[in-house]
Amino acid sequence: MLEFRLKQVRMPELPVEERLKTFNEVALGYSEEQALAEASRCLQCTRPLCVEMCPLHVDIPEFIKLVRLGNYGEAAEKIRQKNCMPSVCGRVCPQEVLCAMGCKNTIGDPINIGALERFVADWELETGAAVPEIRPSTGKSVAVVGSGPAGLSVATELAKRGHHVVVFEALHEPGGVLIYGIPEFRLPKKVVKKEIDYVKKLGVEIKTNVIVGKTLTVDDLFDEGFNAVFLGTGAGLPKLLGIPGENLCGVYSLNEFLLRINLMKAGLFPHKSKTPIKVRGRVAILGARGMDAARSALRLGAEEACIFYQRKVVGRTDDIRRGLEEGVKLHSSTKPVRLIGDEKRWVKLVELVKLKPGQPDRTGKPKLIPEPGSEFLYSAETVIIATEHVPNTIAATNTTRNIKIAEKNKTIIVNQETLEAAIGIFAGGDVVSGAASVIKAIEAGKRAAQSINAHISKH
Ligand SMILES: Cc1cc2nc3c(=O)[nH]c(=O)nc-3n(C[C@H](O)[C@H](O)[C@H](O)COP(=O)(O)OP(=O)(O)OC[C@H]3O[C@@H](n4cnc5c(N)ncnc54)[C@H](O)[C@@H]3O)c2cc1C
Repeated sequence: MLEFRLKQVRMPELPVEERLKTFNEVALGYSEEQALAEASRCLQCTRPLCVEMCPLHVDIPEFIKLVRLGNYGEAAEKIRQKNCMPSVCGRVCPQEVLCAMGCKNTIGDPINIGALERFVADWELETGAAVPEIRPSTGKSVAVVGSGPAGLSVATELAKRGHHVVVFEALHEPGGVLIYGIPEFRLPKKVVKKEIDYVKKLGVEIKTNVIVGKTLTVDDLFDEGFNAVFLGTGAGLPKLLGIPGENLCGVYSLNEFLLRINLMKAGLFPHKSKTPIKVRGRVAILGARGMDAARSALRLGAEEACIFYQRKVVGRTDDIRRGLEEGVKLHSSTKPVRLIGDEKRWVKLVELVKLKPGQPDRTGKPKLIPEPGSEFLYSAETVIIATEHVPNTIAATNTTRNIKIAEKNKTIIVNQETLEAAIGIFAGGDVVSGAASVIKAIEAGKRAAQSINAHISKH
């Protein structure tokens, strides 16, 4: 009995040997029996730190209590009061540094809050999520630019308050990184689409293939009669390394590589795609954000996928473990120097240099510096640059409105409390914070919705 309480109920996963043959989801979710067993481990703390550590302050003990009672509908409603995308967050939230880190009062392992959230949210999506009461129309309308988690969160909150919301999305599918970036084996598209259907049921209109700043501008949106504009355009612009050889064939930025797989059918092998990805031989992934690309490359037939990075691979603990199980190789304390091509300008070698600790930087951490003479070559026929991405400022700059952009990282500067960027214009998510997380983007969307509601109620 004690052992049962100490250990987390393990979520079943696709066997390793099955994974590389498909893009099917790896984590398979709890069965009802497993969910009930895991829920019964929760101690129902009186001062639940898990709630404090969740950026959305979901009432975690209460929803787990409802799971224990088998009342999954009410459990789902409890989560949805705070989180508009529970089946997404149940899969991709880094719980180990958020709610589960706050789960200190339990005996043994923290509760697998994400797995329980996913169980409840999937149950709800299967049985049909109840649409909440929508207030009578206020006659006001808001344009939301970008359909990632930040934009969808703003849209949800404002629609519930009775405002008319139109979302403008540059790509042909809504969802932002959830659709074009995070691979199917971590977050199936059908899950994201069901969450987007829920947003549409609230009356939100979504217009795709509209690049704000090009197809139309923020000024046009005000001229069309929108009372406020929210910019949730993310941070999807690759920042290249600035080393020789980056324009060789076979070199992709992380987002281009993943977008081709996720949105342009390059992942549906063996079917042919008009924008295929030629993954051949060995694949070098340059940068700490490369785990999704490395795992995708192995599924597309790469002989080897190796991530070269400086200090720490970015990602959820479970996803890094799964990537290593699948055969992804890691090479830390390295920096690329140049890419070398063959006579047809196809990349064939990456030159890297090893790094060693140098003088401490401003934070007191030793700066990593190149170790003289430690250069080495890695042969690769595909290279993916997976370093930092920054916001594309086209929507914020092609307007007469005075939106300020930070010189260094191209983020939109806002009032930190209200998220107002200029009169009637609000911004949130990665475009303000720089690359962050889904749950932080949802939180920013909720905060912006409050400010937008206050703004349009006055004007
Ligand atoms: C490969 C990858 C894996 C990730 N994995 C995780 C994870 O496991 N867990 C996690 O919490 N976070 C993860 N993240 C981070 C997370 O996805 C982002 O922090 C989050 O999606 C940010 O949401 P957002 O709404 O601000 O922007 P985005 O999701 O980037 O959405 C912005 C949207 O705006 C659109 N857009 C941009 N410019 C315009 C324009 N001018 N006009 C119209 N539309 C425009 C874009 O096409 C896009 O659809 C990952 C990110 C990447 C790239």
